[in-house]
Amino acid sequence: MYKNLIDLFKENEGKGAVGAFNLHCFEMLPSMIHAAEELDVPIIIQTSLGTAEYIGFEPLIAAVKALAEKSSVSVALHMDHCKDVEALKKAIDLGYSSVMYDGSALPIEENIKNTKEVVAYAHEHGVSVEGEIGSIGGAEEGVVVEKDAAMYTKPEDALHYVDETHVDALAVSIGTTHGQFKSKAKINYELLTELKSKLGDVGLVLHGGTGVSDEDMKRCVREGMKKINVGTELNKNYIEVVSRTFTADDVTPLTSLRNLLGPANDRIKEIVKEKASLFRL
Ligand SMILES: [Zn+2]
Repeated sequence: MYKNLIDLFKENEGKGAVGAFNLHCFEMLPSMIHAAEELDVPIIIQTSLGTAEYIGFEPLIAAVKALAEKSSVSVALHMDHCKDVEALKKAIDLGYSSVMYDGSALPIEENIKNTKEVVAYAHEHGVSVEGEIGSIGGAEEGVVVEKDAAMYTKPEDALHYVDETHVDALAVSIGTTHGQFKSKAKINYELLTELKSKLGDVGLVLHGGTGVSDEDMKRCVREGMKKINVGTELNKNYIEVVSRTFTADDVTPLTSLRNLLGPANDRIKEIVKEKASLFRL
Protein backbone atom coordinates (compact mmCIF):
# COMPACT_ATOMS: atom_id res chain seq x y z
CA MET A 1 0.00 0.00 0.00
CA TYR A 2 1.19 3.48 -0.86
CA LYS A 3 1.04 5.77 2.20
CA ASN A 4 2.39 8.96 3.75
CA LEU A 5 4.50 9.29 6.92
CA ILE A 6 1.53 10.07 9.14
CA ASP A 7 -0.03 6.70 8.22
CA LEU A 8 3.28 4.89 8.69
CA PHE A 9 3.86 6.43 12.12
CA LYS A 10 0.33 5.45 13.19
CA GLU A 11 0.71 1.91 11.92
CA ASN A 12 4.11 1.59 13.59
CA GLU A 13 3.10 3.11 16.94
CA GLY A 14 4.74 1.22 19.80
CA LYS A 15 6.76 -0.94 17.43
CA GLY A 16 9.89 1.17 16.98
CA ALA A 17 11.12 3.49 14.24
CA VAL A 18 10.40 3.32 10.52
CA GLY A 19 13.52 2.95 8.37
CA ALA A 20 13.99 5.52 5.61
CA PHE A 21 16.41 4.31 2.96
CA ASN A 22 17.94 6.54 0.32
CA LEU A 23 17.46 5.24 -3.18
CA HIS A 24 20.56 6.14 -5.20
CA CYS A 25 19.58 4.41 -8.44
CA PHE A 26 16.57 2.64 -9.88
CA GLU A 27 18.11 -0.84 -9.56
CA MET A 28 18.03 -0.74 -5.75
CA LEU A 29 14.29 -0.21 -5.48
CA PRO A 30 12.82 -3.73 -5.66
CA SER A 31 15.44 -5.06 -3.20
CA MET A 32 14.48 -2.42 -0.64
CA ILE A 33 10.79 -3.22 -0.82
CA HIS A 34 11.39 -6.98 -0.79
CA ALA A 35 13.49 -6.56 2.36
CA ALA A 36 10.60 -4.77 4.10
CA GLU A 37 8.20 -7.49 2.95
CA GLU A 38 10.38 -10.24 4.37
CA LEU A 39 10.39 -8.49 7.75
CA ASP A 40 6.76 -7.37 7.44
CA VAL A 41 7.60 -3.75 8.32
CA PRO A 42 6.62 -0.45 6.69
CA ILE A 43 9.35 1.27 4.69
CA ILE A 44 10.17 4.78 3.53
CA ILE A 45 11.93 5.01 0.19
CA GLN A 46 13.56 8.41 0.02
CA THR A 47 15.39 10.26 -2.71
CA SER A 48 17.32 13.46 -3.03
CA LEU A 49 16.03 15.92 -5.61
CA GLY A 50 19.11 14.94 -7.65
CA THR A 51 18.08 11.27 -7.73
CA ALA A 52 14.50 12.20 -8.68
CA GLU A 53 15.86 14.24 -11.58
CA TYR A 54 18.34 11.52 -12.55
CA ILE A 55 15.71 8.77 -12.72
CA GLY A 56 12.90 11.12 -13.74
CA PHE A 57 10.02 12.04 -11.41
CA GLU A 58 7.35 10.18 -13.37
CA PRO A 59 9.06 6.80 -13.86
CA LEU A 60 10.33 6.86 -10.28
CA ILE A 61 6.93 7.63 -8.75
CA ALA A 62 5.14 5.18 -11.05
CA ALA A 63 7.54 2.38 -10.10
CA VAL A 64 7.30 2.99 -6.35
CA LYS A 65 3.51 3.17 -6.55
CA ALA A 66 3.28 0.00 -8.65
CA LEU A 67 5.47 -1.94 -6.22
CA ALA A 68 3.69 -0.45 -3.19
CA GLU A 69 0.22 -1.22 -4.46
CA LYS A 70 0.91 -4.92 -4.86
CA SER A 71 2.95 -5.10 -1.67
CA SER A 72 1.88 -6.56 1.66
CA VAL A 73 3.64 -3.68 3.49
CA SER A 74 3.10 0.08 3.59
CA VAL A 75 5.48 2.12 1.46
CA ALA A 76 6.04 5.89 1.47
CA LEU A 77 8.01 7.83 -1.13
CA HIS A 78 9.72 10.76 0.56
CA MET A 79 11.77 13.64 -0.86
CA ASP A 80 14.81 14.03 1.39
CA HIS A 81 16.48 17.41 2.23
CA CYS A 82 15.04 19.81 -0.32
CA LYS A 83 15.65 23.53 -0.05
CA ASP A 84 13.54 24.41 -3.08
CA VAL A 85 9.85 25.07 -2.32
CA GLU A 86 8.83 24.95 -6.00
CA ALA A 87 10.57 21.59 -6.51
CA LEU A 88 8.67 20.24 -3.51
CA LYS A 89 5.36 21.42 -4.96
CA LYS A 90 6.27 19.60 -8.17
CA ALA A 91 7.08 16.42 -6.20
CA ILE A 92 3.72 16.71 -4.42
CA ASP A 93 1.82 17.32 -7.68
CA LEU A 94 3.45 14.33 -9.34
CA GLY A 95 2.79 11.93 -6.48
CA TYR A 96 5.43 11.81 -3.73
CA SER A 97 3.56 10.87 -0.55
CA SER A 98 5.94 12.79 1.73
CA VAL A 99 8.50 15.59 1.51
CA MET A 100 11.21 17.20 3.61
CA TYR A 101 11.69 20.93 3.47
CA ASP A 102 15.17 21.78 4.71
CA GLY A 103 15.40 25.41 5.70
CA SER A 104 17.85 24.68 8.49
CA ALA A 105 20.51 27.00 7.04
CA LEU A 106 18.09 29.96 7.06
CA PRO A 107 17.27 32.28 9.95
CA ILE A 108 14.53 30.54 11.96
CA GLU A 109 11.69 32.91 11.01
CA GLU A 110 12.43 32.44 7.31
CA ASN A 111 12.64 28.68 7.80
CA ILE A 112 9.22 28.83 9.53
CA LYS A 113 7.67 30.94 6.78
CA ASN A 114 8.82 28.60 3.98
CA THR A 115 7.96 25.46 5.94
CA LYS A 116 4.42 26.77 6.51
CA GLU A 117 4.00 27.26 2.78
CA VAL A 118 5.14 23.68 2.09
CA VAL A 119 2.93 22.25 4.89
CA ALA A 120 -0.16 24.09 3.61
CA TYR A 121 0.37 22.79 0.08
CA ALA A 122 1.33 19.27 1.16
CA HIS A 123 -1.52 18.76 3.63
CA GLU A 124 -4.02 19.95 1.04
CA HIS A 125 -2.76 17.04 -1.11
CA GLY A 126 -2.60 14.40 1.65
CA VAL A 127 1.20 14.57 1.74
CA SER A 128 3.24 14.60 4.97
CA VAL A 129 6.09 17.02 5.74
CA GLU A 130 9.37 16.70 7.58
CA GLY A 131 11.17 19.87 8.65
CA GLU A 132 14.61 20.51 10.10
CA ILE A 133 15.83 22.71 12.86
CA GLY A 134 19.45 22.89 13.95
CA SER A 135 21.96 21.68 11.41
CA ILE A 136 23.02 18.05 11.05
CA GLY A 137 26.06 18.78 8.91
CA GLY A 138 28.31 16.59 6.81
CA ALA A 139 28.05 15.62 3.16
CA GLU A 140 25.47 13.46 1.45
CA GLU A 141 25.29 12.70 -2.24
CA GLY A 142 27.68 15.53 -2.88
CA VAL A 143 25.59 18.05 -0.94
CA VAL A 144 27.91 19.49 1.68
CA VAL A 145 26.76 21.26 4.81
CA GLU A 146 29.64 23.28 6.22
CA LYS A 147 30.99 21.59 9.29
CA ASP A 148 31.06 24.84 11.25
CA ALA A 149 27.38 25.32 10.59
CA ALA A 150 26.48 22.00 12.23
CA MET A 151 24.89 22.65 15.59
CA TYR A 152 22.62 20.93 18.08
CA THR A 153 18.88 21.56 17.86
CA LYS A 154 17.78 23.99 20.56
CA PRO A 155 14.64 22.60 22.26
CA GLU A 156 12.97 26.02 22.54
CA ASP A 157 13.54 26.71 18.82
CA ALA A 158 12.22 23.27 17.94
CA LEU A 159 9.05 23.83 19.98
CA HIS A 160 8.47 27.23 18.39
CA TYR A 161 9.07 25.77 14.90
CA VAL A 162 6.70 22.81 15.40
CA ASP A 163 3.97 24.98 16.95
CA GLU A 164 4.12 27.42 14.06
CA THR A 165 4.52 25.04 11.13
CA HIS A 166 2.58 21.87 12.14
CA VAL A 167 5.14 19.62 10.47
CA ASP A 168 4.52 15.89 10.86
CA ALA A 169 8.16 14.98 11.41
CA LEU A 170 11.24 16.85 12.52
CA ALA A 171 14.91 16.20 11.79
CA VAL A 172 16.88 16.99 14.90
CA SER A 173 20.57 17.46 15.39
CA ILE A 174 21.73 15.45 18.42
CA GLY A 175 25.28 14.56 17.41
CA THR A 176 25.02 12.62 14.13
CA THR A 177 26.64 13.71 10.88
CA HIS A 178 25.75 12.98 7.27
CA GLY A 179 28.12 10.76 5.32
CA GLN A 180 29.87 9.43 8.41
CA PHE A 181 31.17 5.90 7.86
CA LYS A 182 34.68 5.77 9.31
CA SER A 183 33.75 6.43 12.92
CA LYS A 184 30.68 6.45 15.12
CA ALA A 185 28.76 9.47 16.40
CA LYS A 186 28.46 10.51 20.02
CA ILE A 187 24.75 10.96 20.68
CA ASN A 188 23.50 13.62 23.10
CA TYR A 189 20.79 11.60 24.89
CA GLU A 190 20.00 14.33 27.37
CA LEU A 191 19.00 16.53 24.45
CA LEU A 192 16.99 13.72 22.84
CA THR A 193 15.03 13.21 26.08
CA GLU A 194 14.33 16.92 26.34
CA LEU A 195 13.22 17.18 22.71
CA LYS A 196 10.96 14.16 23.09
CA SER A 197 9.27 15.52 26.21
CA LYS A 198 8.83 19.03 24.77
CA LEU A 199 7.66 18.07 21.29
CA GLY A 200 5.16 15.33 22.08
CA ASP A 201 3.63 13.79 18.98
CA VAL A 202 5.82 15.10 16.18
CA GLY A 203 7.87 12.26 14.66
CA LEU A 204 11.53 12.83 15.54
CA VAL A 205 13.91 11.87 12.75
CA LEU A 206 17.51 10.72 13.06
CA HIS A 207 19.70 11.62 10.09
CA GLY A 208 23.19 10.29 9.49
CA GLY A 209 22.18 6.78 10.60
CA THR A 210 25.23 5.16 8.98
CA GLY A 211 27.46 6.75 11.61
CA VAL A 212 25.45 5.41 14.57
CA SER A 213 26.50 2.21 16.36
CA ASP A 214 23.93 -0.60 16.63
CA GLU A 215 23.75 -0.09 20.36
CA ASP A 216 23.08 3.65 20.03
CA MET A 217 20.57 2.98 17.29
CA LYS A 218 18.54 0.71 19.56
CA ARG A 219 18.69 3.27 22.36
CA CYS A 220 17.55 6.08 20.03
CA VAL A 221 14.56 3.93 19.04
CA ARG A 222 13.74 3.18 22.68
CA GLU A 223 13.97 6.88 23.49
CA GLY A 224 11.39 7.73 20.85
CA MET A 225 12.92 8.29 17.40
CA LYS A 226 10.20 7.58 14.85
CA LYS A 227 12.13 7.67 11.56
CA ILE A 228 15.76 6.73 10.97
CA ASN A 229 17.57 7.60 7.76
CA VAL A 230 20.14 5.35 6.16
CA GLY A 231 21.83 6.60 3.00
CA THR A 232 25.61 6.46 3.02
CA GLU A 233 25.74 2.78 3.98
CA LEU A 234 23.76 1.83 0.86
CA ASN A 235 25.85 3.97 -1.47
CA LYS A 236 29.12 2.73 0.02
CA ASN A 237 28.17 -0.95 -0.20
CA TYR A 238 26.80 -0.67 -3.73
CA ILE A 239 30.13 0.79 -4.84
CA GLU A 240 32.07 -1.93 -3.03
CA VAL A 241 30.10 -4.77 -4.62
CA VAL A 242 29.99 -3.42 -8.19
CA SER A 243 33.68 -2.53 -8.02
CA ARG A 244 34.32 -6.22 -7.42
CA THR A 245 31.82 -7.68 -9.91
CA PHE A 246 32.60 -5.31 -12.79
CA THR A 247 36.34 -5.90 -12.55
CA ALA A 248 36.29 -9.70 -12.19
CA ASP A 249 38.62 -11.53 -14.62
CA ASP A 250 35.85 -13.38 -16.41
CA VAL A 251 33.81 -10.27 -17.30
CA THR A 252 33.53 -9.69 -21.05
CA PRO A 253 31.46 -7.19 -23.10
CA LEU A 254 28.88 -9.99 -23.44
CA THR A 255 28.50 -10.58 -19.70
CA SER A 256 24.95 -9.76 -18.67
CA LEU A 257 24.76 -6.57 -16.63
CA ARG A 258 22.14 -8.35 -14.56
CA ASN A 259 24.83 -10.70 -13.26
CA LEU A 260 27.03 -7.76 -12.29
CA LEU A 261 24.32 -5.68 -10.61
CA GLY A 262 22.47 -8.56 -8.94
CA PRO A 263 24.98 -9.06 -6.11
CA ALA A 264 24.88 -5.32 -5.29
CA ASN A 265 21.09 -5.39 -5.17
CA ASP A 266 21.26 -8.44 -2.89
CA ARG A 267 23.62 -6.53 -0.59
CA ILE A 268 21.11 -3.65 -0.44
CA LYS A 269 18.41 -6.09 0.62
CA GLU A 270 20.64 -7.47 3.39
CA ILE A 271 21.43 -3.98 4.72
CA VAL A 272 17.80 -2.87 4.70
CA LYS A 273 16.83 -6.02 6.59
CA GLU A 274 19.67 -5.64 9.06
CA LYS A 275 18.87 -1.96 9.78
CA ALA A 276 15.09 -2.33 9.81
CA SER A 277 15.46 -5.16 12.36
CA LEU A 278 17.53 -2.88 14.59
CA PHE A 279 14.77 -0.26 14.45
CA ARG A 280 12.23 -2.68 16.00
CA LEU A 281 11.45 -2.35 19.69
ZN1 LIG B 1 19.76 14.07 6.25
